[in-house]
Amino acid sequence: MGDTAYQRSDYRNLLELQRIDAEIGRLRTAIARAKDDPEVAALRARVEEAVRAEEAVREKVAKLRRKAAWEEQEADQRRAQVAEMERKMYGGEVASAKELDQMGKRVEQLKAEADRHEEAGLQAIVELEEAEPLLAEAERAVGEARKLLDAAEAERDRLVAGLEEELGALEPRREEAARRVPPDLLARYDRIRRARGGVGVAALDTASGLCGACLVKVPVRLAQSVKSGSVENCESCGRLLVYVGEEED
Ligand SMILES: [Zn+2]
Repeated sequence: MGDTAYQRSDYRNLLELQRIDAEIGRLRTAIARAKDDPEVAALRARVEEAVRAEEAVREKVAKLRRKAAWEEQEADQRRAQVAEMERKMYGGEVASAKELDQMGKRVEQLKAEADRHEEAGLQAIVELEEAEPLLAEAERAVGEARKLLDAAEAERDRLVAGLEEELGALEPRREEAARRVPPDLLARYDRIRRARGGVGVAALDTASGLCGACLVKVPVRLAQSVKSGSVENCESCGRLLVYVGEEED
């Protein structure tokens, strides 16, 4: 049968330690959950999406600006060539009628090319005028999404800090409570607690005869041993079973 080397007060101290450990476990879970905030994750995804959209519009605007500049440059170049050729043609530098005719044709060709480039440049400017407000819009959307993310992160950090403060305050209380439990009983408790999801001890419910941890009926003989002051292991869940007497405080 069980060990009767302990006092009721040892069991009461052990149950108090279990309450503190349960609270520590609850806080650790809450901290992990708070750190892994799905709202923050969703808002971060939204920021990333907004940034991608903004980059796409920015790229389009940059491309249109380059195109507008390039087309203008191409048009200017041809017009300069036209001016140069016309200067030669009308300046009397070219004597041959055949050559003049060829140059005339080339001039017409260059003028047509210059017109096409100018047209394309104007088209790029029209598209640019449509795209630029979209870029401003996309930038605003990024700013808005970042603001929401920052607020959610600040809120999460506040929550985590509060929980960590509570946890920090519990740790010295845990040490103090553990000091009040006999070392061998404490070692048994800690071993079971670690193996059994944070619960190492339960009080026997003498009215129902149930284990306070797994709520399975404790055999009568075992229950009697616990009631008489022994510490036993629940046959169902393996936790320590203790009895601290009827409500006296
Ligand atoms: Zn049990």
